[in-house]
Amino acid sequence: MKSIITNGTVVSSEGEYRADVLLDGGKIVALGSDLSSEGAQVIDASGAYVMPGGIDVHTHFEMPFGGTIACETFATGTKAAAVGGTTTIIDFAIQAQGESLTKTYQDWRDKADGDVAVDYGLHVAVTDLNDKTLAEIPWLVDEGVTSFKLFMAYKGSIMVDDATLLRMLRTGREHGALICVHAENGDVIDVLVGEYLAAGKTAPKYHLSSRPAEAEGEATGRAIIMAEIAGAPIYIVHVSCAKALDAVRTARDKGQAVYGETCPQYLALSTDNFDVPGFEGAKFVCSPPLRDKSNWPQLWAGLRSGDLATVASDHAAFNYQGQKELGLAGFDKIPNGCPGVEHRLFILHTLGVEAGEITMPKLVEVFSSAPARLFGLYPQKGVIAPGSDADVVVFDPSVDGVIAAATQMQNIDYTPYEGMRVRGAVRTVFSKGEVVVADGRWVGKDGAGRYLKRKPFIA
Ligand SMILES: [Zn+2]
Repeated sequence: MKSIITNGTVVSSEGEYRADVLLDGGKIVALGSDLSSEGAQVIDASGAYVMPGGIDVHTHFEMPFGGTIACETFATGTKAAAVGGTTTIIDFAIQAQGESLTKTYQDWRDKADGDVAVDYGLHVAVTDLNDKTLAEIPWLVDEGVTSFKLFMAYKGSIMVDDATLLRMLRTGREHGALICVHAENGDVIDVLVGEYLAAGKTAPKYHLSSRPAEAEGEATGRAIIMAEIAGAPIYIVHVSCAKALDAVRTARDKGQAVYGETCPQYLALSTDNFDVPGFEGAKFVCSPPLRDKSNWPQLWAGLRSGDLATVASDHAAFNYQGQKELGLAGFDKIPNGCPGVEHRLFILHTLGVEAGEITMPKLVEVFSSAPARLFGLYPQKGVIAPGSDADVVVFDPSVDGVIAAATQMQNIDYTPYEGMRVRGAVRTVFSKGEVVVADGRWVGKDGAGRYLKRKPFIA
C-alpha cells in the first residue's frame, strides 16, 4: 500500500521540519514538499508530529516470575505498544537454570513468532553461565541476539556473581554484543528483606525500604568498574535514582562507554504512591523500586545531558487480582513489575515536553532513535529517512486524555497511572507501511510482526 503523510512536522533526534512523507512497499521512499501522491492514500497530519515509531527495548511479555506468568502476551502486548506509538519491542528471553541459551532463545521465538503484531527482537538474559553456554554466544549473535542481560539482584534465582558478569562483558566485547545489567546489590537486599519479614513487616511498602538507592548505586558502580576492566561497553537498565545516575555520569565524564536507561515509572511515580489503603501498594512494586520525588529532576537532567540514553517501559504485567495478591502474606512474594508499554509516549510528552524538561527531538531520541542505534536496528528503524522501514507515528500534541485501566489496550486489570491526565494523542500508526492504528484504535493484522535479526553492537 502506497501512502503519503501530508502537512505534518517531521521530527528526528536532530530537529523538526515541515515535510510530506511518502511510504511504499513497506519503506519510507521520499520526504519533501512536492511529492506525487498519485495512487496513494493521503493521511493529513495537520497540527501533528510525524515521528519514527517508538522502540521499547525493555519488555517482559509472558515472563515466568515467582511461580506465575506475566499476563501480557506477545499478541496483546504488541498491540498495546502500537496504540501507544511503539512499533518495535525487544523482549528478554530469560535462561532457566541448567538450560541452554539456544533453548531459551528458541522458547521465546516460539512464544512470539506468529503472535506479535509489530516487529520484535530478543535479548537473552544469562542466569547460569558455564563453558558450554559461553560457547553458544557467537551463534546467538549470528541469530541477531546482539545484547545480553545479567541480573545483579534476585539472589537464589536469577542473580549472577561478579565472575559471570566479567566473563560476559569480555565475551560481549569479543562478539559485538552489548551487555545489559540490572544493577542492584542482591546480597544486601536479601539480608534486608529477611530482616523486615522477621520483624513482621510484610506490607508492600517494605519492598521500598528493603531495596535502598544505595544498593542500586553500589551495584551500578561495580558493574561499570567490571566493564572498565573488561574494556567493554555496558548498558545499565532502569536507572531509578540519582545515586545510580551519578555512577553513570562519572564514568561517562571519563570517556567510558556507559549507556543508561530509565523508565516512565521513575519519572512519573514515587514512594508517595505507596500511601494507599491496604494492599494497593502492590500495584507499584517493581525493581528497582519507586524512589523519592527528589530524583525526578535529576533523571530529566540525565536525559538532557545524554547520561541517560533511552527511556524503556520495563513492561512487566501482573494482574492485581490473583497475581500481585500472591504477596498478601509477604511483600517478597509480590511479582515485581509495572505495565507501561502503551503509555511511554504520553508520559514522556506530558511530563517531558509539555513540562519543558525535554524537546520533541530529545523525545524522539530517547523513545526511538537511540534505542535503535544501541540495539543494532538503525537506520532500518528509529528514523524517518528514505530506505528505512515505514514505521511512522502521527502524534497530535494538542489532545487531552486520561490514562485508565478501563480504556487501556494492555491486558491487565490495572495501570499504575490510573487517572493521570496526559497531553497528546496517537492518531495514526504505520507498521512497515500498513496502517495499524487509526484514530487511536488498533486496526492492524494480528501476527503481522516479524523477528528482527539485529546487527552487532558498534561503540
Ligand atoms: Zn525488566
